[in-house]
Amino acid sequence: MPLFCDVALAVPLDVVFTYAIPPGMEPVVGGRVLVPFRQQRMSGIVVELHDRPPQVKTKKVIEALDLSPVLDEHLLKLGKWIADYYLAPLGEVFRTMLPLAAEFKRAVAYRITDAGRMALHLAGMSGSPARSKRTPEQQLVEFRVLDYLAERESVREEKLRGATRVSKALLSGMVRKKWIAREDVSAARDAARVVKVAVLLGAEAAELRSAWTGEGARPHTSKSKNLNENQRTLIETLAAVGGSLPVEILREVDVPRTTLGTLVRRGLIELVDEPQDFTASKLKPRQSPFEFEFSAAQKDALAKIGAAVASRKFGGLLLHGITGSGKTAVYLACMRQVLDAGRSSILLVPEIGLTPAVAADLHQVFGDEVAILHSGLSDAERAEQWHRIRRGEARVVAGTRSAVFAPVSDLALIIVDEEQDSSYKQEETPRYHARDVGVMRAKMAGAVVVLGSATPSLESYYNAKKNKYALVELPDRVEMRPLPEVEIVDMRQEFQETGQEQVISRKLAEEIRERLEKKEQVMVLLNRRGYSPVVLCRACGKTLQCKNCAVSMTHHKRERKMECHYCGHIERIPDKCVHCGSEYVYFVGTGSEKLEELLHGFFPQARIGRLDRDTVRGREDFEHALNALNEGALDMLVGTQMIAKGHDIHGVTLVGVVGADMALGLPDFRAAERTFQLLTQVAGRAGRGQSPGKVVLQTYFQDHYAVQFAARHDFAGFYEKELQFRAWMHYPPYSAIANVLIRSEKLDEALTWSGELGRWFENTRHEGIRVLGPAAAPITRLKRDYRYHFILKSPSREKMNALLRTMLAEAAARKIPHTQVIVDVDAVWMM
Ligand SMILES: [Zn+2]
Ligand SMILES: [Zn+2]
Repeated sequence: MPLFCDVALAVPLDVVFTYAIPPGMEPVVGGRVLVPFRQQRMSGIVVELHDRPPQVKTKKVIEALDLSPVLDEHLLKLGKWIADYYLAPLGEVFRTMLPLAAEFKRAVAYRITDAGRMALHLAGMSGSPARSKRTPEQQLVEFRVLDYLAERESVREEKLRGATRVSKALLSGMVRKKWIAREDVSAARDAARVVKVAVLLGAEAAELRSAWTGEGARPHTSKSKNLNENQRTLIETLAAVGGSLPVEILREVDVPRTTLGTLVRRGLIELVDEPQDFTASKLKPRQSPFEFEFSAAQKDALAKIGAAVASRKFGGLLLHGITGSGKTAVYLACMRQVLDAGRSSILLVPEIGLTPAVAADLHQVFGDEVAILHSGLSDAERAEQWHRIRRGEARVVAGTRSAVFAPVSDLALIIVDEEQDSSYKQEETPRYHARDVGVMRAKMAGAVVVLGSATPSLESYYNAKKNKYALVELPDRVEMRPLPEVEIVDMRQEFQETGQEQVISRKLAEEIRERLEKKEQVMVLLNRRGYSPVVLCRACGKTLQCKNCAVSMTHHKRERKMECHYCGHIERIPDKCVHCGSEYVYFVGTGSEKLEELLHGFFPQARIGRLDRDTVRGREDFEHALNALNEGALDMLVGTQMIAKGHDIHGVTLVGVVGADMALGLPDFRAAERTFQLLTQVAGRAGRGQSPGKVVLQTYFQDHYAVQFAARHDFAGFYEKELQFRAWMHYPPYSAIANVLIRSEKLDEALTWSGELGRWFENTRHEGIRVLGPAAAPITRLKRDYRYHFILKSPSREKMNALLRTMLAEAAARKIPHTQVIVDVDAVWMM
């Protein structure tokens, strides 16, 4: 057995650590070992076994955790590629690739015992908790712990220590005195998903329940007399089912959404978390994706992908299918073929794409052979799925970003759906892009990668044009449904003609009225949530900004608060200016919440739903709203870009775009591309059923080519124009790009560091690499940090990465903390 092993640890240092292997222990390359690191024990991945004694004295491996590798040869190689390409520490890459943290994380919780309650009671009477050897300060802390636990069921150690600032030693002492009990909750809590349940409270509940069971007269307490019709309905529903119901199900009761909140505030209903087993979908199964005939184009796509897979060589295909052309059916059919051949496939979907309905489809087609990795899984569930995949029990994997690392063997096919979606880019170390990692993994495994989209990214489209990928088109909608007609409304002209700023143009209002009369459905997009995005003082001209970010706070009317959409900071609604004290504060601009209210005003009879991050807390909410529209329970759906990403809604014949072009004003070179994609996607929601659709597109940028090409459904035209612009400006796909961000809570540090690095860039030879900066980032302050950045552009990625690596070494030598210098290769977000 070799004497030493090199171990990659999940620490932000770009090195591997050498440990001695004690006699008799047999660690394996790609397997985990437990090692001492600084004052703690850590698990890491063995990357090499060798006999080369290091310069310094080594510590010994404590334990070899795996008999066989958890990362096979391919995944180890892929991890090293990611570390190199994205300049990320190898150990942190491996940690991202392996969802096994739960296996070593022990969670401990405490609960109060009867003896503890007694001690608390005595302390309450005598002023000190019983006779004790403790100092008065320690006794006070003990008292605080008992008091805290007395109010609660069982509290996790971190939470308890955070709340009471008790030391570990004191806690152990309290356990010895049997005042509190320690319990291991590692698996128990993690394995269960939690659902919100509404529970009827107090006397009200008892009375209503007895009324329902016929044990008493219908209650008429003073409290219930004050209830309105809706509130009564909810309470009676709860009483009828025994006093509690999951909130999600209770929402199906036909009362306004706010009713439940009111009852909670009045103390009549309580919301509690209850564990629940994961179910793919509680909703009705959808029609099988194979129940329709494949079109000629679909058959052709299927044949091309099938042939590429059969060749057992790397191949890339870009499946460009317009909205509604049936890409998903093609994916599922390909994956079925791969499974029938006894091989494996991975389907990547964007964050919002993996709804319970999609999961249900996958289960229907693949049964138990599919593993679904969604972000709602607990650590323990994720680890369990990982083991199933590794054992070969699930050879079809579907999931969001990190599913690209699924440990399948004999990988034949990776499909990346909506490959342009920005949720594929991880915005923390390692800052990888799952699409690009998918392409590299396929290359290393000799597999086929299919990138699917209605609006491919510039990069992928360019690669297809350069013949790096084969381009497969699905040019028609299924059943030859026509694309919707798009009418542009110039909002500057609307302003001139009506003499005031309009949110909903006369044209859009008229079209909506027409659809509602015909009992057809409408979607309205405004890509900004909240009520008003700006609070402006008319006296001093200043706006209310977040105290952590250089960003306006958004007014949320229903929740009665101001919220920062960047850091989540919340403040109360100001009644006077925070700068000058003037009372002339105005709420300016419109978000989706206000749009919904305006539409209610225009069309009081219409049933309107809203879909944005304020109304959608999880995938189920998202699906619920879309189902309500699908089943005709809504006439109109208002929302942010979320509504552009739905599934087929057959009754929608009109899509109104009220604000989708705000991004065109942002200093980000992808603004035009994103706007074009959003407009195209939302337009694709119109007329997917039997009736033809129409889109009314309101814009302040009516001459912008992104708007014009989207209105004409002219993909090729847009790409030509945009590629020309990218070539001129040396942006991707013509240049590799990296964003280097220098941040600090202290302005002078951010300035000094970025200045130092700026001078270093100036004095360092970097032929063929353009370095722009240092400049203040477009968002100059975010989450308390002041931000400066450099943008690097280079036709040679190797040269650019070499320069960045030297820069990081230089920053370390200058003692700039590594967490304050962020290198983002292929940055998606330039703000
Ligand atoms: Zn003011
Ligand atoms: Zn903020």
